[in-house]
Amino acid sequence: MSEIILQGFPYDEKSSYQKGPALAPPLIREAWSCDSSNYYAENGLNTNSSKLSDRGDFNITEYFDIERITTQHLKEAKRIITLGGDHSITFPIIRAYHKKYPALDILHIDAHADLYHDFGGDPYSHASPFARIMENGLASRLVQVGIRTLNSHQIEQAEKFGVEINPMNDFNIGRLPKFTNPVYISLDLDGIDPAYAPGVSHNEPGGLSSRDVINIIQKLDAKIVGAYIVEYNPNKDFQKMTAFLAAKLMKEIIGKMMKS
Ligand code: MN
Ligand code: MN
Repeated sequence: MSEIILQGFPYDEKSSYQKGPALAPPLIREAWSCDSSNYYAENGLNTNSSKLSDRGDFNITEYFDIERITTQHLKEAKRIITLGGDHSITFPIIRAYHKKYPALDILHIDAHADLYHDFGGDPYSHASPFARIMENGLASRLVQVGIRTLNSHQIEQAEKFGVEINPMNDFNIGRLPKFTNPVYISLDLDGIDPAYAPGVSHNEPGGLSSRDVINIIQKLDAKIVGAYIVEYNPNKDFQKMTAFLAAKLMKEIIGKMMKS
């Protein structure tokens, strides 16, 4: 039994503004294995290890195929790291996780709260996954970091669902909460400032630095059972800098999983 499975969903059908994240998974892998760097996380662990089993990318025709594939992989490993795709892959992934981890906390890094009841009439839009998760009781806690686009509807939704929002205008890594349950890391790359991560569909200035996100991952005092990196849009990237950032964060998350 491999300890960590790597899976990719080249899926951007539910992106509301620009397509592109469907192209992301192979490019993040390419940056991860590029000779420009090595495979080590900063904690000294080699992420190109037999503990990691790369199952490749899965072309999705039906949205809930994402849940079926993730459920199958969770039978084969305790932990999965997923490369998206747009943020809509969240709801089916967390549905699969809930069956294995009934008490699951989510740490969500994003410029956006993604709490719209629906967006453009689509309840499964990439702007809505956390509304679906919270109304279905799939997370014990939802802690959001980097948020800087709240509107009145999403504030109402957050209050209704008890979402713990750490807005960007009040970001302090020392005040992030301690988790007691297993943690899933939901990493939307647009949570990071476009100066570091230009390759996203929704560039939202004033965000986290690369180092902020690395520090958040490294300081997490919890068992990390899953994570994804979503919303990389290669069509918007510059000199592959967002692909290399995604690969760096992937190494840090895998290194953290290997240690926890
Ligand atoms: Mn998002
Ligand atoms: Mn976002």
